[in-house]
Amino acid sequence: MNTNGLTIIHTGDGKGKSTAAFGLALRAYGAGLNVLILQFIKGNKISGELKALELISKIPADNKIEIRQCGLGFIDKNNFEEHKNSAESALKISRAEILSGDWDLIILDEIIYSVKFNLIDVEKVLELIKIRPPKLHLVLTGRDAPQSLIDIADLVTEMKLVKHPFQRGIKAQRGIEF
Ligand code: ATP
Ligand code: MG
Repeated sequence: MNTNGLTIIHTGDGKGKSTAAFGLALRAYGAGLNVLILQFIKGNKISGELKALELISKIPADNKIEIRQCGLGFIDKNNFEEHKNSAESALKISRAEILSGDWDLIILDEIIYSVKFNLIDVEKVLELIKIRPPKLHLVLTGRDAPQSLIDIADLVTEMKLVKHPFQRGIKAQRGIEF
């Protein structure tokens, strides 16, 4: 359908990087594109986006939308090695799916965090972008995108923190954060 595949980055310290990616996924799916969301780090089985996509994918359609959590959840110093292994395997899955030709849009949610937390090398992410088939749209999310990723991307949006309820001690809420 499309011919100009884009590499898109959502970065910055404000909220909205992942939710903007899910919004795009919804738009693309509604427009007939095949959409895959691979989540790095995240392993929360009760997110609203998982449930919504599970429901949506039950509606018969010619195209597909799929979300897969490839992470283990919160990172702490005791489970760094396990996170590293799981990020490595998420990279492998990403590479295979990018090359598969099955998808028009692939979202690699939180992959930039995996770089920031030293779970994967930025070179590995650059490699994914380089093997992207010309028609495939690729979205990468996560705070503190390295300059090398920004340089190679076609579309970069920085979410800027102006105010966040976390600053007033309001914890993550169901439906807003997950
Ligand atoms: P969302 O998934 O809500 O779009 P995000 O992808 O921009 O958020 P991440 O950096 O992935 O943000 O962090 C995920 C969680 O951290 C979310 O629950 C989000 O509300 C929260 N968060 C995002 N920005 C901030 C901030 N500046 N201060 C505190 N918490 C934040
Ligand atoms: Mg996010």
